Parts: sequence; C-alpha cells; structure tokens
Amino acid sequence: MKLYNTMTKRKEEFVPVEEGKVKMYVCGPTVYNFIHIGNARPMIVFDTVRRYFEYKGYDVNFVSNFTDVDDKIIKKANEEGVTADEISSRFIAECKKDMEGMNIKPATTHPLATQEIDGMLSMIGTLIEKGYAYEKNGTVYFRTRRFEEYGKLSHKNLDDLRSGNRALLVSGEDEKEDPLDFVLWKPKKEGEPAWESPWSDGRPGWHIECSVMSKKYLGEQIDIHAGGEDLVFPHHENEIAQSEACNGKEFAKYWMHNAFLNIDNHKMSKSLGNFRTVREISEQYDLQVLRFFMLSAHYRSPLNFSAELMEASKNGLERIVNAADNLKYLTEHAKEEGATEAEKESLAKTAEFVTAYEAAMDDDFNTADAIAAVFDLVKFANTTANAEGSKEYAKALYDLIVKLTDVLGLIVEKKEEILDEEIEALIAERQAARKEKNFARADEIRDELAAKGIVLLDTREGVKWKKA
Ligand code: AMP
Ligand code: ZN
Repeated sequence: MKLYNTMTKRKEEFVPVEEGKVKMYVCGPTVYNFIHIGNARPMIVFDTVRRYFEYKGYDVNFVSNFTDVDDKIIKKANEEGVTADEISSRFIAECKKDMEGMNIKPATTHPLATQEIDGMLSMIGTLIEKGYAYEKNGTVYFRTRRFEEYGKLSHKNLDDLRSGNRALLVSGEDEKEDPLDFVLWKPKKEGEPAWESPWSDGRPGWHIECSVMSKKYLGEQIDIHAGGEDLVFPHHENEIAQSEACNGKEFAKYWMHNAFLNIDNHKMSKSLGNFRTVREISEQYDLQVLRFFMLSAHYRSPLNFSAELMEASKNGLERIVNAADNLKYLTEHAKEEGATEAEKESLAKTAEFVTAYEAAMDDDFNTADAIAAVFDLVKFANTTANAEGSKEYAKALYDLIVKLTDVLGLIVEKKEEILDEEIEALIAERQAARKEKNFARADEIRDELAAKGIVLLDTREGVKWKKA
C-alpha cells in the first residue's frame, strides 16, 4: 500500500509504527459556524482512508479535534452576547449532524482544546526548560532557530520567509527573537476566556493544541497526520517543531494533505460571498451525493464544485443504488435458490473488479479509479443477474457491491419510501411541538424526515418540504 508523504514528496510504502495498527490524527475544524463544503473534503477523504485501512484489517485509532477556543469563536460570541463555550458547543453539535449525514464515522476520540489545557501547560513548560521556548511579557514563543529541522515539511526557504516577515517585528511583535517564532501561550484580553498559567492568565496558541492532543491520545509517535494543504505551513510545521523538540522523536511518519475545493473555479471565501455550507447542500441533495462527488476526484487534485458536477454525481450514485436495489429484489425473487455452475464461473470473474479496486486504493487512495471499478462491477451485475438466475448469485453480487461501496462510505440501500400524507402529519406534529416549546421532539421529527430524504424548508408561507 502506497501513500504520498508531503514530507518526502514521494509515494511511500505504508509501514505501520506498530504492526497491525494505524494511529492517525486529522486536524479538525474551528467551530464558530456551520462547516462549509471545503471543510467537508478532509473529513470525507480521511474517513475513507480510515475505512480502507480497516478493510485491510488494521486496527485504526483515529483522533480528530475540535478547536473550541479561537479568535473567531470569541468574536462570534461577543456579537451574539453569549459565551464562547455556547458558540462552540452549538457548532460542534451541528458539525456532528453534518458528519452523520455524510456518513463519516465518529473518531475514536474527538478531543476539545479547552479540555486539554493541563497537557498544554506541561508541554510548554518542557519546551521552556529545554530552551526551545521563551517568555516575554506573559506571552510564550517557540524559538524556531533552536529547532534545526524547522521547515522540513513545507520545504520553504526560511531565509526568504524570515526577511518577508521582518515587517512583523517592526509592527509590534518586536518582542520576538525571530520573525518565524510563533505563539505557544498568550495573555488574555478583556472579555476573553482564560486559564491560569505560570506566565499569565491566558490561552494557548492554536498549534500547541494538536501536538498535545495527538500525544495524549495516540502517543509520541504516530503513523499519519493529516489535514488540508493550507495546514502544511505554518500549522503542521509548527506542530512538528513542538512535538519533536519536546519528545525527542519523529512525530509522524506520513503527512497527508488534501487539495482545496473551489466553487465555480473560484476560491471559496467570505469576501466573494460564494461560501456554501454542508447544511445548505443538504437542502438540495442527499449528502451521500456530496460524498460521492468528493471521492470522484483524487484527494491531491484540486476539485471544483459546480451544479453540473453535483448532478453528474447524483446520477452516478443512482446507477449504483439502482443496481444494488435490483440485486436485492432478485435475492428474494429470483427463480433458483443455489448458484448454477455458470453463475459460479461468473462470480469467480468478479475477482478482477476487486483487484482493480484494491490496486486503485493501494495507489495513494485513488478513489476515482476505485469508483470506476465499482461501475464495472455494476455493469457486470446488470448484465448477468436476472430473474431466471439464482438468489444466491444475486446475493453474492449485492454483498460485493455493499462491501466495496461501504469502504467509500457510500450507502447503497434505497431510502425507505414515505407517503406524502405521513410527511404532512409529521410536519403538523412538529409545528405543534414547536408551539409547546418541545424543541427536542421538533428536532427529532426533522431528523426522522431527513433520514428518509425529506428536507423541511421554513418559509414565510409556512413549512414546505421536498425530497432531497
Ligand atoms: P479550519 O476550520 O479552517 O481550520 O479548517 C478545517 C479543515 O478544513 C482543515 O483541514 C482545512 O485545511 C480544511 N479546509 C478549509 N477550507 C478548505 C477548502 N476550500 N478545501 C479543502 N479543504 C479545506
Ligand atoms: Zn492541527
């Protein structure tokens, strides 16, 4: 199995630190809003990586954090006049709903930065003791010049970066020894959440969170550290400096980064107003379609989100779901019970689709080619299984499609049909629950309908619904 390592810029054979186990850490979102479809890309990609390792028989310990203390969270809390905690709790819950919709497995552990402050104080203390960090006026900085390998992940020219960042030193951060030194701990400002520390009442910098949580839940050396490509520098570079300076060993063996998702060939950004949240997409499509769309490209290629590509993904997914549905029907209704000799021969031929599928996934998780192998299998099933054949044959093909699509996190089971009257009745019950301020029941009904592919839209004329 080969994967591309950002550190060496090569595809490398995967050799686990501990036999049969994969320890992986994926940097999670900062929770101050609904996640956008860009955030969904690493979630879907690395969930698929995890599922494939599991398919291969590895025991995967998958850790992904929520950054729940950050300038953006504090800003949003101040705007709404609530605590930062309220904002982060709300959007962690919303993020988990979106993850469920995209069929992303919950991590083995989802640590929260605010729950890990002790570990951060301890790591910062060690870095100071070892001469890798220094305190100035309550702020603690990492001394990048002391860590000789600084820059090894991003392959950047540090002298250029230093001269480029010299302006920072003049404009207020002149207490730093070096323009590339970064913050490990900062003193609080008025109205900010803060924790006690030997240096000041304050809060941790962003980078230290991940070094600490990775160490606590996975140990000093892990197999894979992953995230979007924007995290290579400075975030992951800084994590390496902190962890390796503190622990004295290589932090992660493999560094994986997904390329960016663009919208209509533009970068997605707040200023362009072209941001799309996963929740918005869920009002138009089943989120399985979004997942299929994300996996239809290689994770290291930039991907462009457009209405046409989503429609194509919807059709592609439907082809697989329809084939599976047909096989399921034949499993119950085909004429014969056991497979005939001809069918047994035919089944043996399906091995070639599995081989192609695994070859694609073994080659740095080429999901696009893996999907092509699934399509070949679907075509084969559509042309060879029929009502004159056996239940056993249809079931074997069905099971194989489920097995391969499950690794991609795609659910091929058709959504249970629900009658219009049932939908209307549930909507009326939801309205009544809301009136009685029974929001738990109201949400439950919304989720129940969502699970059946029904999306509710609160409009000025009342609640409308449509099939996703
Ligand atoms: P953030 O909340 O900004 O820290 O982002 C959480 C994760 O989403 C990180 O791994 C980012 O690299 C990733 N990410 C953010 N925007 C995009 C995008 N447009 N395309 C792909 N990944 C993204
Ligand atoms: Zn991180």
